[in-house]
Amino acid sequence: MDALYHNPIVTAILTIVALVVIANSGLQIYMLNGPPILIVKDLTNVPVSHGFSGSAGYVDPILPIIYLNPTDAPTTRRVLRHEYQHYMQKAILSPLVFNVAYWFEDVVLNVDYSQSWFEKDANRVDHDDLVFKVFDWQTKKIMEVKP
Ligand SMILES: [Zn+2]
Repeated sequence: MDALYHNPIVTAILTIVALVVIANSGLQIYMLNGPPILIVKDLTNVPVSHGFSGSAGYVDPILPIIYLNPTDAPTTRRVLRHEYQHYMQKAILSPLVFNVAYWFEDVVLNVDYSQSWFEKDANRVDHDDLVFKVFDWQTKKIMEVKP
């Protein structure tokens, strides 16, 4: 133990791992209790995986932010509801586990985008009647999203 404890490389690696775990837990605690931050901006040039470009919306991989391309009200509701489902998946699993699991399904298992468990779960609720809250970055106010 003495050799490990006094090895600067081992302690540096373990310190970084601990910091990642702390950051992951901190973000998870926020996401389990707080609303996503909604940022509406032009996403037409955002590269999307699987050959698509121009995203309708997406959840930031690390931060509790949902980005949304400006569009009409019904599409806003549908895309926001879909991304909110991903937000809840990420909150329950924690950002780190969510990203690893999503990547594992996509890259390692080579599951098609449309067959991804995360996407099927989010597509399933696109048109449901859930009422939820987001923090609108532009107005700096909580906004209730209704069907
Ligand atoms: Zn999705």
